[in-house]
Amino acid sequence: MNYNNFRENNTLSYDDVILMPQYSDIRSRSEIDLSVTLREDLKLTLPILSSPMNTITETNMANAMHVLGGLGILHRYNTIEYQTKLLNFVKGIKAAAIGVTGDWQERLSALVSVGLQIVCLDVAHGDHIMMVEGIQWIRENFPQLYIIAGNVASREGYIRLSQAGANAIRVSIGSGSICTTRIQTGHGRPTLDAILDAANAKNELGLNSLIIADGGIKNAGDIVKSLAAGADLVMLGSLLAGTYETPGKIVKIEGKSYKTYAGMASKEAQLKGRGYYNSIEGVSAVVKFKGNVSYTISELQKNISSGLSYSGARTIKQLQENAIFQIQTSASHLEGLPHILKR
Ligand code: IMP
Repeated sequence: MNYNNFRENNTLSYDDVILMPQYSDIRSRSEIDLSVTLREDLKLTLPILSSPMNTITETNMANAMHVLGGLGILHRYNTIEYQTKLLNFVKGIKAAAIGVTGDWQERLSALVSVGLQIVCLDVAHGDHIMMVEGIQWIRENFPQLYIIAGNVASREGYIRLSQAGANAIRVSIGSGSICTTRIQTGHGRPTLDAILDAANAKNELGLNSLIIADGGIKNAGDIVKSLAAGADLVMLGSLLAGTYETPGKIVKIEGKSYKTYAGMASKEAQLKGRGYYNSIEGVSAVVKFKGNVSYTISELQKNISSGLSYSGARTIKQLQENAIFQIQTSASHLEGLPHILKR
C-alpha cells in the first residue's frame, strides 16, 4: 500500500484513524499467523515486546513473554552485577537494555559473557551521534549481536540508525502513557505518524531494520493499527503494567490491589535506578493488579487475530498489503466507544 495516500499534512494518532473492514475468507482465528522473524535464528510467534522498564521487565516477565511467544527486554536501571544475574536466569532468547554512556561497554561485555543475544540501546532521544557511534562500536566488537536501537520519530532518524547497522528500531517520541516529554520539551510525535514515515522509508529505500511501535498503545486495536501501518513489532509498557510478573510488590489501597508503573525518566525511577535525578520527563502511577500476564497476552492475541481477519489477512505482511486506513472525525471515534451508558 502507499502509506501517503490517505494523509494530509498533520499528525495522526491512533484514534484519528480506523481500518476499513474487508472481505475475509478466514474461517477460524487458528488460520492466522502472528509470527515475526527478527533474524533466521531469532523468531517469535507473537509480535510483542515487553518494555525495558524497571516496573515492567525483569526475569519473571522475560521468561513469561518467552513462553507466550513474545520477548522481554531486561531494563538497565541496576548495577552490572544485578543485570547480569537477572540475564543468567532468562530462558530463551536473552535480551537486555544498555545505554551509550558511562560504563555501557563494560556492561555489554558482562552481559555477553552470560549469553546476551539481543542488545537494546535504550536512549530517549536516539537520533543522536552517540547512538550512531554506539551501534557502530557494537557492530565492530560484537558482530553476532542483534541490535535494537532508538527511539526515533522521523524518517531521517529511522534511515540513520538503519544505515548505522541497527537490526530493529524503536519508533515514536513522547507517546508513552507515563511520559511528559512533550510537555517538558515541546518535542515528540504520535507513534502512528512516526511508523508511517519509517515504513515509507523502509519500503522506498529497501532497508531491512524492523520497525517497533513503542509508546501510547492503549488496546489491541492500536496494536493492529501499528502493524497495518508498517510496524513489525510493538513494545508495551502500560498494557503489561500491574501484572503479576512485573517487578515490585502488590500494594493494598482501601482493600484493592495495585502495583506501581513508573516512567524511566520519572523522578522516582531515576532516584531508585541511579540515586540522583536529571531532567524529569515521566510520571509514576499505581495501576490495578491484573493477575498473570498470560491472561493479558492471550486476550491481546485473540483481538489482534480478529483484527487481521477484519482486513482479510492471515499474516502481518498481508495485513500491511490489504490495510485501508480512513481518517475519522471525533464523532466517529466516540461512536466506536460503548455509548449506552452515556444516554
Ligand atoms: P506505554 O506502553 O504507553 O506505557 O509506553 C511505554 C514506552 O514509553 C516505553 O517503551 C518507552 O519508550 C517510553 N518511556 C518509558 N519511560 C518513559 C519516561 O519516563 N518518559 C518518556 N517515555 C518513557
